[in-house]
Amino acid sequence: MRILIDNGHGIDTPGKRSPDGMFREYEYTRLIARAVVLHLQYRGYDARLLVPEAKDIPLSERVRRVNGHCRELGKQNVLLVSIHVNAAGKGDRWYDAMGWCAYTSRGQTAGDKLADALYAAAERHLEGHKIRKDYSDGDPDWESDFTILKKTACAACLTENGFQDSALSLRYLESDEGKVAICNLHVEGICNYISQL
Ligand SMILES: [Zn+2]
Repeated sequence: MRILIDNGHGIDTPGKRSPDGMFREYEYTRLIARAVVLHLQYRGYDARLLVPEAKDIPLSERVRRVNGHCRELGKQNVLLVSIHVNAAGKGDRWYDAMGWCAYTSRGQTAGDKLADALYAAAERHLEGHKIRKDYSDGDPDWESDFTILKKTACAACLTENGFQDSALSLRYLESDEGKVAICNLHVEGICNYISQL
């Protein structure tokens, strides 16, 4: 199994930061993505960063990279997790939003089992925190038409880890405890998903 970890956006992406500009989504998600990849590599997995660059890589190119791995290994031997930080508004003011959630593409796909494993790991590592669920289709993940989920051939999931326009959420995300929890939930969710296959 080749594990691809995507990090949202780039140093040059407008917005995607806290209202005071101190927190940048591209920077935080790269920090977490690098930690997740290293932890998976320590455990012997073939884990790679999809976007090692600091600049934003267009979705079309990210999809091309993912599907290149799928063609090389077979789509059942590739998985993708895209790591993001949510926003409640447009970055012009602070909100009180909190919570973790994961998205998959619409309908039942391999990504839904991956999302289930990530949700189970989030429940363990984010104990006492809000886990945002949408059971309208019978499973906890949210469904969307995000290009990175819809156009990629393999199991794919996008996580939204807290809110970049909530001071309360950022205090946790930027704490040592928060960073470890966010990293560990991804590592554990991915490992548990693979072990069930
Ligand atoms: Zn994002």
